[in-house]
Amino acid sequence: METLSQRYFQVVDRIRIDCEAAERNPSTVHLLAVSKTRSAADVLALAALGQRDFAENYLQEALDKISACANDTLCWHFIGPIQSNKTRDIATSFRWVHSVDRAKIAQRLSDQRPAHLPPLNICIQVNIDNENSKSGIPLSDVTALAEHIASLPRLQLRGLMAIPRADSDDNNRAAFDKLAMTLSSLRHTITTSGEVAMLDTLSMGMSGDFDSAICAGATHVRIGTALFGPRQVKLQNS
Ligand SMILES: *Cc1c(COP(=O)(O)O)cnc(C)c1O
Repeated sequence: METLSQRYFQVVDRIRIDCEAAERNPSTVHLLAVSKTRSAADVLALAALGQRDFAENYLQEALDKISACANDTLCWHFIGPIQSNKTRDIATSFRWVHSVDRAKIAQRLSDQRPAHLPPLNICIQVNIDNENSKSGIPLSDVTALAEHIASLPRLQLRGLMAIPRADSDDNNRAAFDKLAMTLSSLRHTITTSGEVAMLDTLSMGMSGDFDSAICAGATHVRIGTALFGPRQVKLQNS
């Protein structure tokens, strides 16, 4: 069986090869290790190999793990669905949130971001394949939400996140291209309306499809299974 370290360096290597194929600088693609259902010991083992960015879906599990890891050099990303009564802990404990899909949630995150911390980095989650079961807003609503977020003082709008339907490679590639185009046009709209925004982030690609996401311009790939192996049942609800 492969070890965590073998899998980690295989993934890092594959990202480098994907970047070469796409003529991209590997430093433009950030690997987020999706550590949901994994232990703090697994996180620290990966951190010891050099991994810094970790992503979590379930808030209570994440808070326990962040405090168990007690490592200030790690950068935590929230990527799960957000209930409005959970925003304070998210605003306090994470540096990034990739799953914002409502103005109300954005407002609360901005209001609750502690003053001593830098603005919270935000991606808008887009329901790129218009699936009933998926979180995220429709493409047609992205501009309005982006303008709202760009106006909030304690948030830094960074870009877009999506999870394609995963039924075929072709569909995923088309969805990634669509998200990339949406970010470009958003960059144009937001810039011309005079807002300050970095808009440098495309959070897309998971274990099964990160090669094509990188080819389409992903800047943050969110990878769990390919690093840690298959997931068991999740640890707990939050
Ligand atoms: C679980 C999860 C991932 C990682 O999925 P893998 O297929 O295990 O790589 C990525 N993004 C989100 C939003 C997730 O919930």
